[in-house]
Amino acid sequence: MKYAIDLHIHSALSPCADDDMTPNNIVNMSILKGLDIISITDHNSCDNIEAVIEVAGDDILVIPGMEVQSREEVHLLCYFSCLASIFKFDRIIRQRLPLIPNDPHIFGNQYIIDHLDNIIDIRDELLLVSVDMTVEEIIAAVEELDGVVIPAHVDRTSYSILSQLGFVPPDLKLPTLEISKLSSVDKLNLKEFNYIMSSDAHHLGEILERKMLVDLDEPTIHALLSLFRK
Ligand SMILES: [Zn+2]
Ligand SMILES: [Zn+2]
Repeated sequence: MKYAIDLHIHSALSPCADDDMTPNNIVNMSILKGLDIISITDHNSCDNIEAVIEVAGDDILVIPGMEVQSREEVHLLCYFSCLASIFKFDRIIRQRLPLIPNDPHIFGNQYIIDHLDNIIDIRDELLLVSVDMTVEEIIAAVEELDGVVIPAHVDRTSYSILSQLGFVPPDLKLPTLEISKLSSVDKLNLKEFNYIMSSDAHHLGEILERKMLVDLDEPTIHALLSLFRK
C-alpha cells in the first residue's frame, strides 16, 4: 500500500520555526493534509517528540527524529525506532552541543511544549549550531542505536552533504537522500541513491500534502526504516 510521508518537520523547539508549531497544530495540520506518517526533526534536539506522539495517538504515525548539524555543517536527519533510542542519542548530542546561550530576539524561541500545547520549559542553549561530531561519528552513533541517517536537503547550496563535502562518500553507506519539496531528482546527477522529498516545514502551511508516497506492506516504523536501509 502507498503511504504519504513528510519526515522533516520542525516544532516550536527549533528557534527558526514558528511558535505555533505545537504538537496539536502539527498533528492536526498533517491529518488535514492527508499524511499517514510524519517525523518531527528539530535541530540537535528532540524534547517535543513525546508530546507529538501522544497527541497523534493512532491517527497518524510519528517517527522519532532529529536534524543534527555536524562539525562540517552538514544537516543529517536521524531516525529511530523508539523513544528510548532517540533519548539515548539525545544524551550524546547534549554532551557535544556547545553551550552558547540562545538570544530569542535574534534566533527565535526554543519552546518545550506538552500534549496540551502548554509551554512547559525553554531550552537555553542555542540549538542552531554544529555539534562537535563529524558526519562519520554521527552516523556511527545513530547506527549503534539501530537508527537510520538520511542526509537532508542535498539539493541546497548550504548545510547539505553536497555543499559541504562535495559528494556523498561511498564508505558512509547512505542509500537514501532527502531533497527539498521544490526540487527535482533529475537536477541531481546521483542516480544510485533513493530519494525522499520532505517539506522541512518551519510554518504550519509548509507541511507537505500527499506528494511523497512510499510503498509499505504495513505502516510501521520498522517497515519504513527498513526501506531507507536498502
Ligand atoms: Zn536543515
Ligand atoms: Zn530542517
